[in-house]
Amino acid sequence: MNAILLGAPGSGKGTQAKRVAERYGLTHLSTGDIFRAEIAAGTPVGLKAEGYMKAGQLVPDAIVTEMVAGRMDPAKRYLLDGFPRNLEQARSFASDLKHLGMAVDLVLYLNLPESEVVTRLSSRRSCGKCGEVYNLLSSPPEAAGKCDKCGGDVVQREDDTETTVRKRLLVFRDLTEPLVAYYRAEGLVREVDAAGHIDGVTKAVCAAIDGYLAESKKK
Ligand code: AMP
Repeated sequence: MNAILLGAPGSGKGTQAKRVAERYGLTHLSTGDIFRAEIAAGTPVGLKAEGYMKAGQLVPDAIVTEMVAGRMDPAKRYLLDGFPRNLEQARSFASDLKHLGMAVDLVLYLNLPESEVVTRLSSRRSCGKCGEVYNLLSSPPEAAGKCDKCGGDVVQREDDTETTVRKRLLVFRDLTEPLVAYYRAEGLVREVDAAGHIDGVTKAVCAAIDGYLAESKKK
């Protein structure tokens, strides 16, 4: 099974993707995490992506689709987080997968009201070293400013400031949300209410995956 996690910024895609990928033996592929690592390493892709990310805009499709296609291995099964982000990426990804003898089997849509998104993102923090994600309101690190896992500094993402968050939300509404309808038309979407506590949402995501697996076994 290859699955895509779709949802607004702050809907919990990254957190849920890590948990769910581990449980189902999927390879977690987050384009946002890849870009942040490329920027930290000062690579040519990182240099190209940085300005767009800081402005809350999408990195141009050609850069993203080539980067993802280059990482897909037909021997593995993937959980994609943050990709595709618009219709062009979805179409070009479908054709890249076809060439590799792969397909998107399931789209999990984490649905969260916008008011909740802004609150969550402005209190989100992450470890600058290992990427562990925290929330100052619901899941703060044990020692303020220090990562529980590796002791690295816990900081705010540059694109989590209120102005940039609002821009990212507009991008989501205009470009990414239409993907829900696109994949719905293919019968691939299962919707999950992302408003609850992290563990409850994980349970709901797993229930959606289990439902899909049970149905596909019967076919
Ligand atoms: P994320 O960590 O998924 O919230 O992504 C952070 C930022 O990385 C986005 O606001 C974009 O600037 C960039 N980005 C991540 N994934 C994509 C993508 N599939 N297409 C274009 N830009 C992306």
